Parts: sequence; structure tokens; C-alpha cells
Amino acid sequence: MSKIQLSVVIPVYNEEANLAALMTRLVPVMKGMWKRYEIILVDDGSRDNSLSLLKEFANEPFVKVVELTRNYGQHAAIMAGFSVSSGDIIVTMDADLQNPPEEIPKLVSVMEDGQYDVVGSIRKGRKDSFLRIWPSKIINMVARKITGVHMRDWGCMLRAYRRPVVERMIACQEHSTFIPALATVFAKRVTEIEVAHEERFGGKSNYP
Ligand code: UDP
Ligand code: MG
Repeated sequence: MSKIQLSVVIPVYNEEANLAALMTRLVPVMKGMWKRYEIILVDDGSRDNSLSLLKEFANEPFVKVVELTRNYGQHAAIMAGFSVSSGDIIVTMDADLQNPPEEIPKLVSVMEDGQYDVVGSIRKGRKDSFLRIWPSKIINMVARKITGVHMRDWGCMLRAYRRPVVERMIACQEHSTFIPALATVFAKRVTEIEVAHEERFGGKSNYP
């Protein structure tokens, strides 16, 4: 089988209201990039109907579903997705459409053109409440201090990683981690671009 060029890894926890809309927007974007791709959906122990919806999507050859036994948290779920991914470039994003799938080509072309190891993203016009945005400022400050890397928005999970970075993160066997920060340990060339941000399409945030 020919080699996968692009993997998209999406953690899913109780997202039954969003999954159909997510795939309706994501699949045409992936097709339009003319790369060999896979979409990896990780069910993080959902208690709603998410897993059965994911299993239906898995009828498509380009979809892989990972089923976790219980709720391990968003970053552990992404790590599980990484471990079954095979793309040269791996993009992560949320399942609730706060990260517009239409931004993926931009992320990938910046990575390719600039030979970056990691491309992060800054949410333009962030659609979250003040009570979420304010703590993020502190998290961003702490992450900059700890990593020594001057990224502005560590919390946006719409990010692209090159395979060697992902391989090293998997090899860490670190399951309770903050992936954007861990990646910087293994990445030499890192950048950040502005992306759009949307309201959650349906359902409720898992971090009220
Ligand atoms: N998520 C997950 N496990 C959890 C909590 C969240 O896999 O325990 C997923 C969730 O389905 C979504 C992403 O992580 O795809 C971000 O979660 P959410 O949208 O609830 O967070 P917020 O955007 O409010 O920070
Ligand atoms: Mg969200």
C-alpha cells in the first residue's frame, strides 16, 4: 500500500452532536489536498453515542477508529491516535468544530514550505468565554517559561507535527502530558500561524 502523507488525529469525548458535521466538513478538505491521508478518531471512553457513530465512519478505508477503555483525557487520547498514525505529517484538532477543518491546508503548506517540525496556531477572535481566555494567558506564560519557546497560543490543538517528533513523543511513554509542550522538546524548527476559531458546534465543553 502507498505511504500515508497526512494523518489527522481527533480525540472524541461525548461528541455525538458534532461528529456528522465534523466529517461533512473535514473529508472534502482532505480530498482537496491531493495527499494520501487518514483520519484517526479516538474515542476517549464516551458515554453517549459517539463510539457507534465512529464505527460507522470506519467503513471508509481512510478512517481509523481507536477505542479507549475509559476516559483518559484529551492528551492521552491524542497520544493513542499518534501511536496508530503513519502519516509524514500529523495534524491534531478538536472534534467540536472549534478548529475549522478548512485551516488544515494552510498549516500543512506552512510546514512544507518552511521545513518546520511543528506548526502551532493562534486562535484569531477566540470564541470562548472570558473565564476560559483569562486562565489561558497564565498557561501560555508558564508554557513559554518552561519550554523556552515563544509560542503565543499553546491551548489551540489545531497543530501540525512531523513524524520524527511524533515518534519521539510516543517513545516517551508519557501518558499524562501536554502535547504542544512535549513536542517542543523534540522539535527544532517551530512556528505558529493565525487560524480562525469557532463556537462549539453542538454539545457542551468538557471543561466547564
Ligand atoms: N476530549 C477528550 N477527552 C476528554 C475531554 C475532551 O478526548 O476527557 C476531547 C473533546 O471531545 C474535544 C477536545 O478534546 O475533541 C477538546 O475538548 P473540549 O471541546 O470539551 O474543550 P474546550 O474546547 O472547551 O477547551
Ligand atoms: Mg471545544
